[in-house]
Amino acid sequence: MGSPIVLKLFENNQSAAQTVFRLIKQQEDLLTVNREHSQLMAVNHAAGQHPVVVSRPVFDLISKAKEVSLLEGSCFNVAIGPLVKRWKIGFQGDTVPSPEALRALLPLTDPAHVVLDAQACSVFLTQLGMELDLGAIAKGYIADRVREQLRQMGIEQALINLGGNVLTLGTPAYDDQHTWGIGLQKPFSPNGTMLGVIAVTGKSVVTSGIYERYFEKDGMLYHHILDPKTGYPLDNELLSVTVISDNSIDGDIYTTLLYGMGVEKALHHLTTQPQLEAIFVTKAGQVICSSQRHCQFTLTDNDYHLVLK
Ligand code: ADP
Ligand code: MG
Repeated sequence: MGSPIVLKLFENNQSAAQTVFRLIKQQEDLLTVNREHSQLMAVNHAAGQHPVVVSRPVFDLISKAKEVSLLEGSCFNVAIGPLVKRWKIGFQGDTVPSPEALRALLPLTDPAHVVLDAQACSVFLTQLGMELDLGAIAKGYIADRVREQLRQMGIEQALINLGGNVLTLGTPAYDDQHTWGIGLQKPFSPNGTMLGVIAVTGKSVVTSGIYERYFEKDGMLYHHILDPKTGYPLDNELLSVTVISDNSIDGDIYTTLLYGMGVEKALHHLTTQPQLEAIFVTKAGQVICSSQRHCQFTLTDNDYHLVLK
């Protein structure tokens, strides 16, 4: 997944840790597009040719991602693969493609051309050159699977961090600490520099930002969340979006969706989603909290100021 993974347990349980890392590895092997072979790559390789039967969980995840992609005004696009591969942002050989190259790829990113057959459990990309990419949802999905696995093993207090997707179970097992404190990364500062602390219990905290994977060319910054309409990185007032939710898959989906909406629309949309909460960090130096229902946010950095909605 190209991300460091941290698992925090409060007992010395090597076998639980091994089980979790095995599970993550298995899921990565199914869902990656950064290697030649995976279930997802089998679908991609058969684009324009024939449907490919996948396992039920992979089918369900692709269905979910397609559904979110087809929401009105959604900037989440499960079929964004050809653009991601062209830009190579965060990988060796990243380049700014020509406007013509991007225009030529846009028709290959229509999520309506992802044909799902629930009975056969198959996925068909109808155009040659189409490619699925689950990069904006897979880590959330896998984090939820890890939580399920931990619970099955009787573990009720733990933390899993899949490169910015943090999922907490219960409360930390320290006498003096009744909530988890999740640090919010200060954009474009050394890794681990905090902007503030998000206190939660038993919640998922997912952050997506433009400062994690990007490159600079001729004074422009190109980051890894692409606008499916233009083919260029999404450009608005945001540096990062953090979503606090029960399930990490929702957090992962919503960081991308809200990112694309921008602050104003996102805050409006969140009034219809009382189970979610979001923290926006803007280029103007604001940290905007949608509410403090599901977490407590404490600002610790003087360069930014807090706005509570
Ligand atoms: P991260 O946790 O790596 O920041 P995100 O959840 O923000 O991940 O998703 C970014 C990844 O999703 C990109 O690296 C790419 O693989 C894929 N992606 C980029 N743009 C989009 C988009 N508009 N819709 C869906 N997936 C995208
Ligand atoms: Mg995401």
